[in-house]
Formats: sequence, structure tokens, C-alpha cells
Amino acid sequence: MRIVLASRNKHKIGELQALLERYIPSIEVLSLDDIGFEGEIVENGSTFEENALIKARAIADKGDIGLGDDSGLCVDALDGAPGIFSARYAGEHGDDEANNKLLLKNLSDKADRRARFVCVIACAFPNDERQALVCRGETEGVIIDEYRGKAGFGYDPLFYYEPMQKTYAEMTANEKNTISHRGRAMEVLAQELKEII
Ligand code: IMP
Repeated sequence: MRIVLASRNKHKIGELQALLERYIPSIEVLSLDDIGFEGEIVENGSTFEENALIKARAIADKGDIGLGDDSGLCVDALDGAPGIFSARYAGEHGDDEANNKLLLKNLSDKADRRARFVCVIACAFPNDERQALVCRGETEGVIIDEYRGKAGFGYDPLFYYEPMQKTYAEMTANEKNTISHRGRAMEVLAQELKEII
């Protein structure tokens, strides 16, 4: 069985392949490049769910089972920001340093530091032969004031996960996968896919 993730990120493809094949040994996860998908998919939804579905459907429309994911950081004292705008919170897409600086600035007078990472993965089927699956994973933490740890990316050094007493950036990849929003969403997806295949 082959399934296509709406991404060109080899790391994401490998992570998903490893997790899904624990449940569905015959599964093969491919990337946009593997199927020769050209062009960009415009993520113009207003929720994680909408964006994940837009990506999954773009693949399903071409005839493959499609997976799309969207993720971000939601901070309570900022009414859920940066949310779906996490990658471009400070303006330019993917400028982690500027995003982290802006986050700390906007939280400088806030006592409530609660936040959660959210990941939604959607799975859409060609010709809508089955109803799309939408799987959500969340991880609760707090935003600390100083950077801790060197691993990971994005907001990892500021996101402190109390049960492990570490930021995401202080965890090994394996530790992070077991408790992360993405790991949790993938786990739900793997179980739901196994049920229907
Ligand atoms: P995407 O869904 O992979 O495009 O991620 C959107 C943005 O959310 C990223 O660019 C990061 O800013 C943030 N983000 C999502 N997941 C993580 C994570 O595990 N650690 C740190 N930042 C993350």
C-alpha cells in the first residue's frame, strides 16, 4: 500500500514511514518529489485541520492516498497565537530566531506561560472513496524566558515539558518523538489507518 505525504522533507517522510510500518508492515510512504508533484500547495485555511486537509486533498486529487500535516504553537496568554502562523510569526517564513524573540517580547509582561504544540494530520482518499481521517496530537508545556538546549528547531528551546523537566531542545530525537504533538498525531493516524485497511 502506498501513501503520499504532502511534503518534500525527507526527515518527515522517514519518521512517518518508521512509525506507520510498525502498524502496517506493507506500507510505503512517498514524498511529493517521489510522485513528480510539481508546484506549491496553497495553505490558505484558517485552522490546522483545514490546512492539513487542503494538503491531503491535493494529493488525493492526483489519484494517491494523500497525507497532509500542519502544526504550530498555541500560547494561552496570546489567545492561541502564533497558532497556524507559527512558521512566519515574525514575518519571514521559517526565521526561528526572529520568531522566538518576538514570542518572548509578547510574553514579557505575562505571568501565564501555558502553551501547547498542536499537530494535525489528515488523510484523504482518491474520489472520496472513504471519508477523510483527521488526527490531532497535542503536547502541553510552558514558555520559559531563557533558551535551553541545542537540538531540534523552531520554538524547541523555549518550550518546557514539565513531566520530563526538559525543553524540547534538550530531548533526544527519540524522547521527543514519544511525547511530541507530531508523534502523538502520527500514532492516532497509524491506529486509525490500520482499522480501515
Ligand atoms: P509545519 O507544520 O511543519 O510547517 O510547522 C509550522 C511551524 O510550527 C514550524 O515552522 C515551527 O515554527 C512550529 N513548530 C511545529 N512543530 C514544532 C516543533 O516540534 N518544535 C518547534 N517548533 C515547531
